[in-house]
Amino acid sequence: MLEDSFDGLKKRVIDTKLCFFCGQCCAVCSTGCISFKDNGPELDGECVSCGQCLEACPGLGSPLKKLDIQVFGRETTPEEEAKGLGIYLSDRNLVSADKEIQGKGYTGGKLTATLAYLLEKKEIDAAIVSQWGAASPYAWVSWPVIATTREEIIKGAGSKYVFSPNLMALSEIADREDIKSVAIVGLGCHMQGLRKLELLGQSYAALAKKVKYSFGLYCGSPMRSKEDFMTYVANMMGVSVHDIATVDFKRVSKEFDIAFDIVLKNGENKVKQMNIMQLFEVIGPYQRWHRCKFCTDYAAEYADISFGGSHITCRTPKGEDLIDQVVADGWLVPSEPNGLMDQMAISIDQTMAKTKKVANVQRIIKHKSDGKPVPSYD
Ligand SMILES: Cc1cc2nc3c(=O)[nH]c(=O)nc-3n(C[C@H](O)[C@H](O)[C@H](O)COP(=O)(O)OP(=O)(O)OC[C@H]3O[C@@H](n4cnc5c(N)ncnc54)[C@H](O)[C@@H]3O)c2cc1C
Repeated sequence: MLEDSFDGLKKRVIDTKLCFFCGQCCAVCSTGCISFKDNGPELDGECVSCGQCLEACPGLGSPLKKLDIQVFGRETTPEEEAKGLGIYLSDRNLVSADKEIQGKGYTGGKLTATLAYLLEKKEIDAAIVSQWGAASPYAWVSWPVIATTREEIIKGAGSKYVFSPNLMALSEIADREDIKSVAIVGLGCHMQGLRKLELLGQSYAALAKKVKYSFGLYCGSPMRSKEDFMTYVANMMGVSVHDIATVDFKRVSKEFDIAFDIVLKNGENKVKQMNIMQLFEVIGPYQRWHRCKFCTDYAAEYADISFGGSHITCRTPKGEDLIDQVVADGWLVPSEPNGLMDQMAISIDQTMAKTKKVANVQRIIKHKSDGKPVPSYD
């Protein structure tokens, strides 16, 4: 039956651009016949029409009220909805005490420090992080890596403003006997996908079972399509799209200077450094990815802990206990005031929360009334 097959996923999610390349379909496919390729999820074997890829797909939306009850035992209040940051127990502004991690992280390395702490204390055997550059087979996406050492966790530090199919790694985690417990990192869309698996239970239970902690990233969704992303990188670097082998991106100063680091197919390496404001000018003309225009989750509301420019937002008691412990052991310390950057973070929070809770919600209503495909959060 078309509706339950990969053809159904293609028709309803991929062709409609409701896919956000989270990798969930690859993880849940009962015959392992969906692979993530250069254009996203593709059929790579015989589909038996089990329907799992469609049932678990967060691109089609997630039942948020049910997720509220499942994760927090209650629904989001109207006040919390208006604030736009979801349900949480505490919100702190901390950075990694370890200077190496602080320097490699995007905003203080607090997330990487927390993962390294969990590994050191043997509370997890591995972390699902995202590495770009040479770690990814495709230049326009970052790639999930199962990090089992401190070095691999640190190698994943830094924000990648591209898609990363992190949920794909859950199937390998489920199969690996050496890994009993993991922390997974992802955007709000990954967190919704993970919680959807937990809600659905049954055949998906094994995939979510080993996840001890979920760490979400605040996301203002500056994603672009593969074509747009590769075009702006190529134009910016003065090369042809077809010559690019890998792309990497780093923050290189406290003042938000950033660097694009690309390798061409002939092995040549090119680096371009600029301020984040210049980058906004470069990406400005390119449209946000279609699915991101329907996202209502700025602060990764379903994670145990969400990490943003100036936030460690503890949502579940488990998440809050962990951050208390990491602080008590001196791995996270208060962040130093950073004038203009702190003001910028507040302004981004206000703008993005409003965009997602008001403009994107209105867009969903409009598209739905026009009969166009939209995700459902009911
Ligand atoms: C696309 C995107 C948009 C963002 N938008 C905002 C915003 O509008 N406002 C705000 O306050 N913060 C935003 N952030 C979060 C912010 O950039 C930092 O990631 C966050 O503050 C944590 O910083 P850190 O130094 O503690 O994390 P780090 O120590 O640098 O660790 C970051 C972790 O996230 C993983 N990761 C990086 N990129 C991705 C990705 N694309 N998909 C899945 N995992 C990934 C890394 O592997 C690493 O484990 C965004 C992040 C991303 C990736």
